[in-house]
Amino acid sequence: MERTPSGFKTSSAKNIANSKLRETFHSATRHALEQRLKSIHQVPEWEELREKGHQIKKEVINQLDFYLEQLESNILNNGGQVFWARDADEASNYILKLCRRLNAKNVVKSKSMTTEEIKLASKLEKQGVEPIETDLGEFIIQLANETPSHIIAPALHMTRQQIGALFNKTFNIPYTEIPEELCAFARGKLRQKFLSTKLGISGVNFAAADTGTIVVVENEGNARMCTNLPKVHVAIMGLEKVIPRFEDLSIFLKLLSRSATGQKQTSYVSMINGPRKVEDLDGPEEFHLVILDNGRTEILSNPKLRESLFCIRCGACLNTCPVYQRVGGHSYGSTYSGPIGSVLTPLLQGLDTAKDLPYASSLCGACSNICPVKIDVHHQLLWLREQVVKQHKSSWQERLAMHCYTSIMKDVRLYRLGSFFLRNLLKIFYKKGQHLNVPGWSKDRDFPPIAAKTFKELWKETTQQKTT
Ligand code: SF4
Repeated sequence: MERTPSGFKTSSAKNIANSKLRETFHSATRHALEQRLKSIHQVPEWEELREKGHQIKKEVINQLDFYLEQLESNILNNGGQVFWARDADEASNYILKLCRRLNAKNVVKSKSMTTEEIKLASKLEKQGVEPIETDLGEFIIQLANETPSHIIAPALHMTRQQIGALFNKTFNIPYTEIPEELCAFARGKLRQKFLSTKLGISGVNFAAADTGTIVVVENEGNARMCTNLPKVHVAIMGLEKVIPRFEDLSIFLKLLSRSATGQKQTSYVSMINGPRKVEDLDGPEEFHLVILDNGRTEILSNPKLRESLFCIRCGACLNTCPVYQRVGGHSYGSTYSGPIGSVLTPLLQGLDTAKDLPYASSLCGACSNICPVKIDVHHQLLWLREQVVKQHKSSWQERLAMHCYTSIMKDVRLYRLGSFFLRNLLKIFYKKGQHLNVPGWSKDRDFPPIAAKTFKELWKETTQQKTT
């Protein structure tokens, strides 16, 4: 199902009206936040860790060229191959070429938002290569012909009843909504695929420049099989995933797992140092790392927004965002949803298509407060709003309203006159018992009734009382 960020207003209105969907998102995000809170309370030095994570990310982003070259040279030393992809097409074509060389009719994939970003699965499919999603959430949304609605929980928008019905319809098996049974069925289906497929594709959570180690974290063990069992393993990473040193991993693994799922540590942490060596009993014969730009160097050149490249994709800002909790991930119409998605999408796809996303926030700052690497997300949203206005991308009604508002607020006489008329006009409406229809505001809520006295009148009364 094709969704775009330009449809944000329509899709969010539709999703807000869907009480079942709202409840699903509300309970899932609340649960994730509770787990996170319990988990970080066990770490007294949590704030210190966040600060360290922030500083390391700052160091790496400020010297990205150095660390990426170091990473490349260590991957080559370890026997791997590196491909630099400027955009989505270059990355997909490289992987397609590998499929052709191996005569691979299908590939196994573990969960990766970067492959979602470049729409790898649909590109492979169009060229006759079947992409098999092996993460349970991704497997479900692939069956449902959907896109992920959350960075770390792709099928968050679906209830277990819906998943049970989907399995029942697709595989003609008896209906069950018991997660363990659904999971066992999916596992049985996928197991054979791991053994018969020649190419495995994974994402990358972190890449240590000083050792050339690629790190993939997950909870199901499917990524480990994708990276180990097929003859060739391709890992694809956005260029911001590099970290300077292997020892920095201990900080990021703590920050990521606790912020994402509230776990002390994810169940599987795979550290990959190139293809199998002569003395190894298993592992792929070839290892390829695709380093993707796709607009990231453009973000890097913007001092106001380069901090968005610190993101470790934990999803905590989505869970805490009052807008995301209500409108759900699909409303954003892009791979990256929630507060960080509202920053990244306009940067990766352009403000023309994503100009509504910076407004998908109450600017409460909860996203910045929760971020494990201390990205100032809500100020970045504010800065993007400024660009929408400066580049005249807002609607003419909004520009007219802001122009009138500015003129009135700059002139005290106009302000007094305007508020006098407005107050009396509103009083007439409320006397008649009518609800004021303010487009965009009063459709789902009432316009608040006018206060009996203005602030100025109250102030005058208070100061008079004090002097008497
Ligand atoms: S911006 Fe921060 S909180 Fe949001 S996904 Fe990225 S790292 Fe997590």
